[in-house]
Amino acid sequence: MGNIIKKIGWFIKEEKKMYTLLLFLLLMIALISLLPAKVLGLAIDTIVSGGLNAQTLFYLVGALILLPISRYFFSMVYNYLVNVEGQKLAFKLRKKYLNHLFELDSKFYEQYEKGDLIARVTNDLDAITMAATSLLEGIIFNIGLILFAIGIMSVTISWKLTLISVAIMPVGITILNMIRNKKRKYVKIHREIYAEMTEKILESVEGQKTIRAYVQEENDLERQKKAVIRDIESWRYIVKYENWFNPLFEIIYGISYILAFGFGVYYIIMQEMTLGGLITFVSYIGLLYGPITSIGGIFTQINNATISVDRFDEIMKQTPTVFDEVNSLPIVSFNELTFKNVTFQYPFDSAPVIKDINLTIKKGQTIGIVGPTGSGKSTLIRQLLREFNVTEGEILIDGKSIQNYKIEHIRQIVGYVPQAHILFRRQVDENILIGNPKASIEQLDKAVKIADFEKDLLFLQNGMHTMVGESGVSLSGGQKQRLSIARALIKDPEILILDDSLSAVDAKTEDNIIKHLKAFRENKTNIIVAHRFSAIKDADIILVLQGGKITQQGKHDQLINEDGWYKIQFVEQMTMR
Ligand code: ADP
Ligand code: MG
Repeated sequence: MGNIIKKIGWFIKEEKKMYTLLLFLLLMIALISLLPAKVLGLAIDTIVSGGLNAQTLFYLVGALILLPISRYFFSMVYNYLVNVEGQKLAFKLRKKYLNHLFELDSKFYEQYEKGDLIARVTNDLDAITMAATSLLEGIIFNIGLILFAIGIMSVTISWKLTLISVAIMPVGITILNMIRNKKRKYVKIHREIYAEMTEKILESVEGQKTIRAYVQEENDLERQKKAVIRDIESWRYIVKYENWFNPLFEIIYGISYILAFGFGVYYIIMQEMTLGGLITFVSYIGLLYGPITSIGGIFTQINNATISVDRFDEIMKQTPTVFDEVNSLPIVSFNELTFKNVTFQYPFDSAPVIKDINLTIKKGQTIGIVGPTGSGKSTLIRQLLREFNVTEGEILIDGKSIQNYKIEHIRQIVGYVPQAHILFRRQVDENILIGNPKASIEQLDKAVKIADFEKDLLFLQNGMHTMVGESGVSLSGGQKQRLSIARALIKDPEILILDDSLSAVDAKTEDNIIKHLKAFRENKTNIIVAHRFSAIKDADIILVLQGGKITQQGKHDQLINEDGWYKIQFVEQMTMR
């Protein structure tokens, strides 16, 4: 519980006034809840003693009517305000979480599944917010009610009877808590299983086209079913444990009633207590049932929330491994880019993917990279995006390590067109402008021209304003590639990287794009990863990457005369035509 208070303490501090008001309201409600039984007891004693007259009757009835009404009013105000506070807290936590997710880097995203991250910001966050609101309600209201009740019972009715009948309650509470503590363990397991299930559902929804294309609906449903069953089973464990405590507690509570009645009647006979007193007393024992059982429940809820807080915190505690150094340098352009003995291994992999890479790229050059699938071409060039730190060696820009420069600036000078194209559910022009939201119409037109995307626009119903992405027109693979290229080009980046981005375009379009790059990107650097040699044969330097190493390097004319992968592949491609 301390954990929860520590975690949301900042919020309570911020909302001090509101929390004070809520506290006051709760205590009022607790007190008002206890008064009717007391009034009833008084009424009975008045009747028994024969002292009832019109005036006292009027007061007693009036009180019995007014008390529930005022309780209703206070509860209404309380419920409204506490919900507002809960929403406010959820909003703030969600904002913190999402902001943090944006700060984290690729290593983090390699480690955590999407569904899990979503579960943390939905389920877990809800549990925390619930705890923050019911914490107040549960603890303050229930403890307030218990203390007020015991106070009234012992001071105004009989302290002896109070001692006799209430003393056994802590035993019940202890048993109740023991069982609930055990439950906590199962709740944690359940959360994990639930996250796994969410992940599976997400995957199926995302991959539904592929699943259908391969007629895998049955298999997929089977997988889903397993995940759902696991989820239900783990929940069943929890329910089982919950059901355990009810009968045990009920018995103890029954004993308390019997004691109150037995000794109560005895005290009445001994004239130590009035009949009205006993009626009030027994009502209070009944009234205590709710608070006593729900306090345990609240502790469970808080325990659950503690797990949620831990899960939430786990993410909040993650720090990016790639971050700006204290005096990171700005950069808008470069003259020379050098890979010096660069080796890179993915964070959760066992072996490096690129090994001992040495390479110098000068401003204005066009670099071609070829090599078998999986040889590390993407991994090599993505090093320029600063997603990860290199494992060994160094990447230097104008003699200084890339790590010395501001990450955002580095990403700003690099225009990367990935192999997989991401289209957002927006218009075509908006999709391109993601590369540079401030671009002018002229810049947009130019990017479209260089990417050879103009001809595609003619076929789109609303041209630039056509909606694309999941909810819009679906573009062909080649169109997506060209749109992606335009998106990178609109930045007019110092370094343009086409990572196998011409694979789906025809030879003529490829030729156009390559020509445009030459004409419009004078003095800018291009790095082209390609399968077709036609895309890279005019490059200033061509690298052949095999098994993560540069095995050949040179110009086209040189490489076709050299024994090696390049020559073999080139001849193969020529004969295929
Ligand atoms: P290429 O672009 O030449 O096809 P990649 O750079 O994409 O090659 O991949 C090189 C190797 O790195 C492959 O064996 C691939 O499985 C592995 N790899 C790629 N991305 C990751 C990743 N995020 N985590 C671990 N291994 C990866
Ligand atoms: Mg690749």
